[in-house]
Amino acid sequence: MKKYQGYLIDLDGTTYFGKNRIPTAEKFINTLIDEEQPLQFVTNNATKSVQQVVDNLYNNYDIKATKEMVYTSTLALIDYLKNNHEGQSIFCVGEMALKEQLIDAGFTLVESSSAQVVVQALNRDVHYDELTTAIQAILNGAHFIVTNTDRVIPTEDGFKPSSGALTAFIKYATQVEPIIMGKPFAPIIEGAVNKMAIPKESLLLIGDNYETDITSGINAGIDTLLVLTGVTKAQDVPNLPVPPTYVVNDLSEWEL
Ligand SMILES: [Mg+2]
Repeated sequence: MKKYQGYLIDLDGTTYFGKNRIPTAEKFINTLIDEEQPLQFVTNNATKSVQQVVDNLYNNYDIKATKEMVYTSTLALIDYLKNNHEGQSIFCVGEMALKEQLIDAGFTLVESSSAQVVVQALNRDVHYDELTTAIQAILNGAHFIVTNTDRVIPTEDGFKPSSGALTAFIKYATQVEPIIMGKPFAPIIEGAVNKMAIPKESLLLIGDNYETDITSGINAGIDTLLVLTGVTKAQDVPNLPVPPTYVVNDLSEWEL
């Protein structure tokens, strides 16, 4: 095993599983934190603020993360908007945490189909009128940018539709393809790598989902560690199109 200088770590399925704890992951991550090894928690979830991610890790999983260690699809979106759409008006389909972070970053949110950019994430209170405004704005020529295209969220009450299901609704109505920030697409990984300021060759991406986490690492040219505590199962591994760099049952098998 190669020694790495920094780690990109997925949350759900890797650090914890829904509300269930993964003690081997907690131990591994707390060792990294204690040794002050650089790490970023990289999550597609755009419904939580960075502070909420930190609080959730600390309160429910005993992980002493700081805000500096978190890179969400919302932060990737903000970085992308700053680089490409500074000063443009935004219509946002999303929850309060996303809207607040956009406003804090200096963007102007409008409730109008004349918006120059439509940003879409999961909104668990979504309304037909809101989707209508988004669709009209896009048909009027607004840029269509989404945080993530996850299909479903596994919960204690079964699968619930995720952000990608709303994306599909808007895409179907407009026939416009969005630009996607989250894994397996490049912006979230590029943003996290830029933030860490460590060469990609010295980074290891750790995740449980081949389709999103591992694929994003493979696409970015970053070594990957698939951990079998979440979505991708041991029986899937022989059939993966491009194998991960490493596969472990859990993170107790990984030597730092
Ligand atoms: Mg995951």
